[in-house]
Amino acid sequence: MTDASELRLGAIAAGGKRAIARALAAIERERESPAVEALLDEAYRSARAHVIGITGPPGVGKSTLVNVMAARWRAAAITVGIIAVDPSSRVSGGALLGDRTRLASDPADSGLYFRSLAARGRLGGLADLAFPAVVLFRALFDRVLVESVGVGQSEAEITAVADTVMLCVQPGSGDSLQFMKAGIMEIPHLAVVTKADVGAAARRAEADIKGALSLAMPMGRAVDVLGISATSGDGLERLDQALEAHWQHLGSHDRLETGRQQQAESWLRDLVRTEYGRRGEEAASVSLRLPRGVAPFGHAERLLASLELRRLPL
Ligand code: GDP
Repeated sequence: MTDASELRLGAIAAGGKRAIARALAAIERERESPAVEALLDEAYRSARAHVIGITGPPGVGKSTLVNVMAARWRAAAITVGIIAVDPSSRVSGGALLGDRTRLASDPADSGLYFRSLAARGRLGGLADLAFPAVVLFRALFDRVLVESVGVGQSEAEITAVADTVMLCVQPGSGDSLQFMKAGIMEIPHLAVVTKADVGAAARRAEADIKGALSLAMPMGRAVDVLGISATSGDGLERLDQALEAHWQHLGSHDRLETGRQQQAESWLRDLVRTEYGRRGEEAASVSLRLPRGVAPFGHAERLLASLELRRLPL
């Protein structure tokens, strides 16, 4: 068991990378322990970061962009936590995460932290771990980037933890057509055509994705489409502005609160379903709704304990 005094938010914030690593290890190993629960509930209430999710097919340039964005923000003294998730790792064994440690990260810079997470046979899937990790990070950093490394359900996984979802599209890939056909895909808040430095193909992709989005979009919603180049730096300023604009938009009309509460409820529902199946979900019913302002982790343990009691033979 991790020493409870190490698991106070203040101690972790002051303790640098090693303290963060220890806290993440404790979350992975002993999330149900009272000390970890208390930490996560405290972090949930102390959220300050804008959580930005980045999805898109492998090779589109996500990790290059994440590195460049993080470096720009660090230069502006903005602290950044990065979580790379591989939702397909149950199949790939986390192979896609294998080379992710190439992220240029200064070990002495406690304002930049990188961690990868793989589902790797986890019963509750990735969100089971990603949600608590994001909750911790959003209390520790100014911005959190969650990069989806895998393929498949990545959009859904990212929506479950991010405030703003950014879809990356590769020039010349026909991704925008896929996007249009998919229909079921979650609509991102922002679409980015990467590698704008390749010229005409990037501009065409930008026009295509604008067309695809205008068809897929519910009335009254608009999604910015931006061409950027991580290598030349083109469009990065506008990307920052678009992210800031969405953050401001979330801050008005309670959208941020509501979105995060929905994320917490969906994590709670998954947890109950994983441990107790559909019948458990039915038995828990109203307790799966979090009252406004209630942090989910202690609530989850109390709920699981009550379900456990009901499962005991009389
Ligand atoms: P990921 O799999 O989506 O994370 O993609 P990577 O970041 O690993 O990039 C895939 C490839 O695209 C690499 O060879 C990068 O060097 C290249 N790449 C990334 N960003 C850019 C860019 O802005 N312009 C160009 N021309 N190539 C890029």
